[in-house]
Amino acid sequence: MRYTGLIEKYRDTLPVSDDTLIISLGEGNTPLIKLENILCEMGTHVELYIKYEGLNPTGSFKDRGMTMAVTKAVESGSRAIICASTGNTSAAAAAYAARAGIKAFVLIPEGKIALGKLAQAMIHGSTIIQIKGNFDDGMQLVKDVAEFAPVSIVNSINPYRLQGQKTAAFEIIEELGYAPNYHCLPVGNAGNITAHWMGYTEYHEMGKSDSTPIMLGYQAEGAAPFVKGARVDNPETIATAIRIGNPQSWDQALKLSKDSNGWFDCFSDKEILATQKMLTEKEGIFCEPASAISVAGALRDIKSGKIPDGSSVVCTLTGHGLKDPDTAIAQCDQSAMINVNPTLNEVKKAILDHM
Ligand SMILES: *Cc1c(COP(=O)(O)O)cnc(C)c1O
Repeated sequence: MRYTGLIEKYRDTLPVSDDTLIISLGEGNTPLIKLENILCEMGTHVELYIKYEGLNPTGSFKDRGMTMAVTKAVESGSRAIICASTGNTSAAAAAYAARAGIKAFVLIPEGKIALGKLAQAMIHGSTIIQIKGNFDDGMQLVKDVAEFAPVSIVNSINPYRLQGQKTAAFEIIEELGYAPNYHCLPVGNAGNITAHWMGYTEYHEMGKSDSTPIMLGYQAEGAAPFVKGARVDNPETIATAIRIGNPQSWDQALKLSKDSNGWFDCFSDKEILATQKMLTEKEGIFCEPASAISVAGALRDIKSGKIPDGSSVVCTLTGHGLKDPDTAIAQCDQSAMINVNPTLNEVKKAILDHM
């Protein structure tokens, strides 16, 4: 059978009926890639896999939730959706609204959106409302305005979003044949870590895996409410996708972290960028800064022995590196660009000098 997206594939576990009109762009079914060079250099026997969610239709895992949220919004007769976003939710909302033929309104923090995400929200024809405030301010405004305007909220407080996102865990269990010992994720609103835990526990209860993973959540130092144990007023980090001080899935994430025997930790922007670059240079995998934090976390905890030798670990790479070209270019050595005249000699010399 051919599947066109995750709702078709996993419809038995999702809140849809035979009559539901499915709004899909063929999301899900992303690659699980085993890291080789980095682990080999470390000399560890941990097996570390990357779930490359940047290969979803709009370049982030948000598509998994958005196919469900927009499908259910259309089913309920909604003609417009709204979200607050650090970027990827707005890109996904804009694309799925276009697919469904309905309107999307997106609230974004002025000047704090990665270029690729802004381009997506604009080109898909959503109405962009820029606010002089951060994501947390935008989220509150969306909740307030939705009481008065005929719009469906498609942020991760919409329960259908997490239903769609839980399918990432299903795919991992199906591909590995078991649940990993550890699962590492970047944490912003904590919707995705909550959705993964839902997926893992559902499959465990259905007898499709023997165990559930220990869930590890990583945050940026300047936006680390789970590490500090309290909300953060002015979150700041170069990893704009997780620049969030007041996580919407706070209670769920604290509970699943405890239930799974997991932990939270945080990283500086410098460490985040170094990991992003290492993944591109040593493994050929390009993710956005926020995504790299899951690998930074896994590697630190493998080195320290918190994740013991012999474990299997999956890291979710939440978004594609092309989302944020400015940050990628800024952190590269500009002298790696060699300027020459268009002659055979100069090009030959440039190659020989750099072998
Ligand atoms: C949304 C997002 C996150 C954070 O996910 P939450 O569900 O808010 O914790 C992390 N990385 C990227 C790239 C994102 O777009």
